[in-house]
Amino acid sequence: MATEDLSREIILDHYQNPRNHGRLEHPTVANRGHNPLCGDEIELSVAIDEQGERIEEIAFTGRGCSISQASASMMTDVVKGKRLTEAEAAVQQFTQRMADRQPPPTDLEEELDALQGVKRYPARVKCALLPWTTLRETVEIYRRRGPAPDPSEQDVLVMDCADSP
Ligand code: ZN
Repeated sequence: MATEDLSREIILDHYQNPRNHGRLEHPTVANRGHNPLCGDEIELSVAIDEQGERIEEIAFTGRGCSISQASASMMTDVVKGKRLTEAEAAVQQFTQRMADRQPPPTDLEEELDALQGVKRYPARVKCALLPWTTLRETVEIYRRRGPAPDPSEQDVLVMDCADSP
């Protein structure tokens, strides 16, 4: 199978059978990202362990084009169970690869290469990046706020990033 067909198939599979789809009942932090260019929306809910180090659970909902939703599905697969620092590194690596800068040696899942074809359509790169930038913002929100002392008292913070570039 040609690489291009394989990529299309992987993207389609994630789009039609999204991993980690839904909302967590008790997320530590939640956040929403929006791509005004084509109307993509991604909402992330993330559960972080008591030590504040690791992503225990992550789920997404959203709507929009297949690239944005498939990328969200892949992203949640990649970062689930990872340390926050590892997740941030993954976001950075993926962003760099999509920006076509010389990629650093990477151990990102090969499946993510399926999204590399999107680079031929610059407008769609933002679609692929949306879930990742939303995750980065979510981690930033969490770090700014710090771990909530009592899980029952914390409220879910929903931020709209429609104004961000
Ligand atoms: Zn899109």
